[in-house]
Amino acid sequence: MLKSLIDLVFPPLCHNCRQFIPDAGRIHVCPECIASSKPLQSPICPCCGIPFATDEGIDHLCGSCIEKHPPFDAARGAFVYEGAVRDLIHRLKYDRKIQCRRPLALLLLELLSGAVEEFSPEMLVPVPLHKRRLRERGFNQAILIAELLAREWKIPLERRLLQRVRWTEPQINLAAGERAANVKGAFALSDPKIASGRRIVLIDDVLTTGSTVAECSRVLKKAGAAAVLVVTVARVP
Ligand SMILES: [Zn+2]
Ligand SMILES: [Zn+2]
Repeated sequence: MLKSLIDLVFPPLCHNCRQFIPDAGRIHVCPECIASSKPLQSPICPCCGIPFATDEGIDHLCGSCIEKHPPFDAARGAFVYEGAVRDLIHRLKYDRKIQCRRPLALLLLELLSGAVEEFSPEMLVPVPLHKRRLRERGFNQAILIAELLAREWKIPLERRLLQRVRWTEPQINLAAGERAANVKGAFALSDPKIASGRRIVLIDDVLTTGSTVAECSRVLKKAGAAAVLVVTVARVP
């Protein structure tokens, strides 16, 4: 009775398509929108998390991780960067719909809480934005998502530990080969002692080629981090 009254006054609408959802649950994304985004499933590379083209077979290292182990211990994305998940990330970042962080964080929690728990993390560290980008956008989407994850996982969030000390061109405008060079030396730690000996989950919204999170992980490992697990809502396949 109370629920139907609340639904009447504040009808639960899908964060993505705005249609009414009778059984909204916590996430508030309709079944059609959820179905438009593919969860990242095995077989994947257990190191960098890249999904393989075939749907069959077991997880195995990809060629690039065999050739050179990335600076992080593992990377996991919840979804392929497509459909409603991509639209929700766009609404959050470019339309400044802050409320979209909630369904994104909840979807990530559903799919990746097991992997994070297994890792036994001691702190969450969001990928930082440069001051100039932060001024333009007004917020860092990785922090907004990480705040909700930290609350659910009960892990401390280190908002200012990792800093972007050099302006870099948006990775999206660069060829894959140029991206590592673009972010080299772009990050520093406010206090390296905080990372020393700790198991760290590095949080970002989207992983594209992994150059940014690789460089962040390199800086954390250089300060003595015991292990780094990269966790993102989505991943460009
Ligand atoms: Zn929808
Ligand atoms: Zn790999």
